[in-house]
Amino acid sequence: MEEKGINCSFCGRTKQETDVLIAGTTGHICNLCISQAHEIISEEMAHQSREELADELTLLKPKEIKEHLDAFVIGQDHAKKVLSVAVYNHYKRVLQESDQEQEVEIEKSNIMLVGKTGTGKTLLARSIAKMLNVPFTIVDATVLTEAGYVGEDVEGILSRLLQDCDFEVELAERGIVFIDEIDKIARKSDNPSITRDVSGEGVQQAMLKLLEGTVVNVPPQGGRKHPDQKYIKVNTKNILFICGGAFDGIERHIRNRMNTNALGFGNSTEERIDDSNLLQYISPQDVKSFGIIPELIGRLPIVTHLDPLDREALRKILTEPKNSIIKQYRKLFEMDEITLKLDDDVYEFIVDKAEEFQLGARGLRSICEAIMVDAMFELPSSDEKEFHITRSYAEDKISRKKLTQLRAVS
Ligand code: ADP
Repeated sequence: MEEKGINCSFCGRTKQETDVLIAGTTGHICNLCISQAHEIISEEMAHQSREELADELTLLKPKEIKEHLDAFVIGQDHAKKVLSVAVYNHYKRVLQESDQEQEVEIEKSNIMLVGKTGTGKTLLARSIAKMLNVPFTIVDATVLTEAGYVGEDVEGILSRLLQDCDFEVELAERGIVFIDEIDKIARKSDNPSITRDVSGEGVQQAMLKLLEGTVVNVPPQGGRKHPDQKYIKVNTKNILFICGGAFDGIERHIRNRMNTNALGFGNSTEERIDDSNLLQYISPQDVKSFGIIPELIGRLPIVTHLDPLDREALRKILTEPKNSIIKQYRKLFEMDEITLKLDDDVYEFIVDKAEEFQLGARGLRSICEAIMVDAMFELPSSDEKEFHITRSYAEDKISRKKLTQLRAVS
């Protein structure tokens, strides 16, 4: 009875109108006001931390950037070096921007990564963004079309970047965009005038301004632009674009160019060419021969390659990166207090299968999944404290039928 007159000191609700009313020294607060206050505080804290992040864009030295990448990406030393320098210079440029009177203007250094699928292009770009704590997004060049055609407008790329940082435009303007499968929008024919090439050259043209730096009207929800939609203005001048592609068959262009260049030097140059990995000689000229227009190549001044992954690299990928596949499985089992144990020859077996079906690093996970799925289903409901995988157990789980399925997925 004596509680009858108690109200929340914030919203005035009576005790009957709330679920919980907590007493303080001089007043009361109800559960609804607590929830609302909590929301306000979380939002404010998130906002503050984002602002701090923007202020503290830590400029790591190239060597430190590479060291960081080493923890996540196996091999690819050359690409890591080139990327570390490019990223370092890019953010030096961003910081210099605020310096009004600059004599030398540093040009933007967007990057082109060429390498077989599953060799770590996306992983490199993602790891860099994570390290720098900048917004990051991945887009597939094949879904883009030039304005007016069915598909996604090029500006839509920036919608995703904005979504990654809760529409904080300033943060997005320092972000990193990874455009995958850039090779799929190559010009199909050497003769640009044959027919209008909607999905290829037109998209390349549409990307030019974006990559160079311009103020773009971005539809917040992505997709197609509508006349009555509200746009967000984003300046792409300081956004770092990293393009990646497998460029299947580009070796032919590399070889042609090298043979042409070697004319007059006898066979000596020819002898030094490492035929097994021609990508290491890639130059912007080859990318052009492949069908990327010169203007776009000009806006991607840094071209580097990724090496194919050999057995040793695949084996390391399983266990060495900070969040390697096996470490992830080990953790999952640990959560059920089960110790995961793999015999050495199981690793060899997994690599064998990834190689046999040419799945590369992408296949490692699906092969591991096929080996472990039964145990992951059964063991949590059992008393087992250890899951010991022997080679014959693994072989048994990877039946031919399953591998055909694996291949279909990859
Ligand atoms: P790409 O973009 O070159 O097609 P990804 O970077 O998406 O390939 O790689 C696919 C998966 O394979 C990644 O999630 C990662 O787990 C693994 N992977 C590929 N290359 C490497 C590498 N060099 N080091 C560590 N993991 C790798």
